Amino acid sequence: MNKKPLKIIPPLVIKEKKTSPYDITVCRAGKSGCIHALINPKTISEKIEKALDELGLGEHIMSRVQKRLLYHRRFKVTLAGCPNCCPQPQIKDFGISGQAIPAVTENPCTECMKCVKICKEEGAVVVENAMPVFDYDLCVFCGDCERVCPTGTIENKKVGIRVMAGGRLGRHPQLAKVLKEMADEDYVLVALKEMVEKYIQGLPPFRKRKY
Ligand code: SF4
Ligand code: SF4
Ligand code: SF4
Repeated sequence: MNKKPLKIIPPLVIKEKKTSPYDITVCRAGKSGCIHALINPKTISEKIEKALDELGLGEHIMSRVQKRLLYHRRFKVTLAGCPNCCPQPQIKDFGISGQAIPAVTENPCTECMKCVKICKEEGAVVVENAMPVFDYDLCVFCGDCERVCPTGTIENKKVGIRVMAGGRLGRHPQLAKVLKEMADEDYVLVALKEMVEKYIQGLPPFRKRKY
């Protein structure tokens, strides 16, 4: 017996909305602020949007739109102020998150244990002989221990940016590839340019697209 294929009728689109070829999301740190933020994602997002225009990505995407710009055709960028990654840069075309490397200063430790209590990664920081000791294999570089240390015994010896690209959900999901840890803003824009070129050509970590 020939079965008729199931046909789902989409709702009528009353009025086409003008849509940006990019979907750029900034975490709460760039809007109302967040105590966890290590970088300001808002200022970087503005530079990224300008760079995407200059690289011609918007024009490229819009030139391939047939009826309307579908969400999965938009270039998705997410910026997070810290490794908690609330807006999930790991599943976007391009993503960044702030990070910081904690280190010990000469200021005496009072063994209050606030650093150990705040750390969500068991063993990443312990206090031995009135001195914090870090295991950098366990640390996720969130900067929380530095934030709560009342004596300045812990300081962030470097604040930087994790840069990721190629993440996606849908039919062929994959987590974004980490391009660099502890990068600076200049690197973010260099990496963005390289990734946009790959995105347009459909080279890894992106997929070739049929339009
Ligand atoms: S990603 Fe970090 S800085 Fe941004 S809202 Fe979440 S916790 Fe705050
Ligand atoms: S930076 Fe974060 S993960 Fe690393 S030791 Fe401090 S609190 Fe723990
Ligand atoms: S928070 Fe600072 S003072 Fe308290 S135990 Fe940790 S390093 Fe020592």
